[in-house]
Amino acid sequence: MVEKRQPIPVKEAIERVMKRVTHLESELVPLEKAYGRILAEPVRASHHVPPFDRSPYDGFAVRSADTKEASGQSRVAFRVIDHIGAGNVSKHALGEREAVRIMTGAQLPAGADAVVMLEQAVIDGQAFTIRKPFEPLENVSLKGEDAKKGELIVESGAFIHPGIIAVLATFGYANVKVAKKPVVGLLATGTELVDVREPLEPGKIRNSNGPMIAAQLARMGIECRLLGSLPDDEDACFTIVKQAADECDAVITTGGVSVGDFDFLPAVYKRLEADVLFNKVQMRPGSVTTVAHINNTFLFGLSGNPSACFVGFELFAKPAFLAMMGNEKPFLPYERAVLAADFKKPNPFSRFIRAAYESTPDGAFVRPAGFNKSNSVTSIARGNSLIVLPGGTRGFQKGDEVDVLLIGSEEGVSSWMLD
Ligand code: AMP
Ligand code: MG
Repeated sequence: MVEKRQPIPVKEAIERVMKRVTHLESELVPLEKAYGRILAEPVRASHHVPPFDRSPYDGFAVRSADTKEASGQSRVAFRVIDHIGAGNVSKHALGEREAVRIMTGAQLPAGADAVVMLEQAVIDGQAFTIRKPFEPLENVSLKGEDAKKGELIVESGAFIHPGIIAVLATFGYANVKVAKKPVVGLLATGTELVDVREPLEPGKIRNSNGPMIAAQLARMGIECRLLGSLPDDEDACFTIVKQAADECDAVITTGGVSVGDFDFLPAVYKRLEADVLFNKVQMRPGSVTTVAHINNTFLFGLSGNPSACFVGFELFAKPAFLAMMGNEKPFLPYERAVLAADFKKPNPFSRFIRAAYESTPDGAFVRPAGFNKSNSVTSIARGNSLIVLPGGTRGFQKGDEVDVLLIGSEEGVSSWMLD
């Protein structure tokens, strides 16, 4: 008898997954390896930035008081007593109408409180004149104006992007505390599958989900353990998933979660006595997506249909992995955009349509990325986003404004957008 499954809303399915997330440990990595990881400590300013008053321009450091009388009719002259570039400090303190020729980034000499830009001076040998007074601190980059010692710059849990690398380097974080990455096992199931290197035979197709998910993980900086591909054989599948569940933080399988005669994953979860969080979601594609949990290990049972498999990973596995690493923004970012095609037929389930999103001077538009069925592989290749059409009684037409989930962004958002 085919078991009756109870479909639950997408949001609830995501919540059930996220509730089971526990944080992974942290580890120290050299700064050079920190890009793309998740910070496991806050970044604090270990000193003022800049650490000293400095010149933001090439010019002359002066005492502003000496410039007071300057005007177009009555230029004031200065004598240049030293010449410094960034990295050097002048040994001289400025006396009356004295100046130090100073380059961008160099520390202001003692006594100086303003900088005359080269363009503001008429130079004559070791002297120059100016035609306007300078305010105290004019053209000075002040100690601590960018950051104060002890200031919190980035919170723990942030995705380490190049800007964060810059502040880590600024404050001397030669080693950075980051979250460990989850250990993820990846298994493709299906008697019809052959490897990318093998020729096609009658009835066979190449395993595209395995490499696709490995790349979805790689995009998050996570390597996976390739558990290969298996025919539809319950015992073989049980043995591999059981062992992988012992060794990994998550095991992703593709295929075999439906109710067909050769779909053995439900039986495998049962034999493992895993806690099945859900086995039917009110979404298309991927309504049969199943997530189970055993001994703090996630079992993501994704559909074999390529589009469904892709969507299942982005909606459920990705935020779980990010949250395991302590990322505070684990969900896909989204935009609103104008639909460029009709979807007149209402659907009781929410739809996630592989789509091409483009922001133009006339607004943001989104159109389906080609063949639009759960078994499509080409639409994943042509898309950069997912159109979200909420389930219900109405269809959607060209010109309607809809939500679009953006795929492949470095930074996500802190809460799931949909009901
Ligand atoms: P299943 O989820 O096992 O019922 O498979 C659904 C559809 O996806 C079938 O047409 C399978 O042949 C296809 N499929 C299953 N696994 C893969 C895979 N790894 N790569 C590409 N297509 C697959
Ligand atoms: Mg199958």
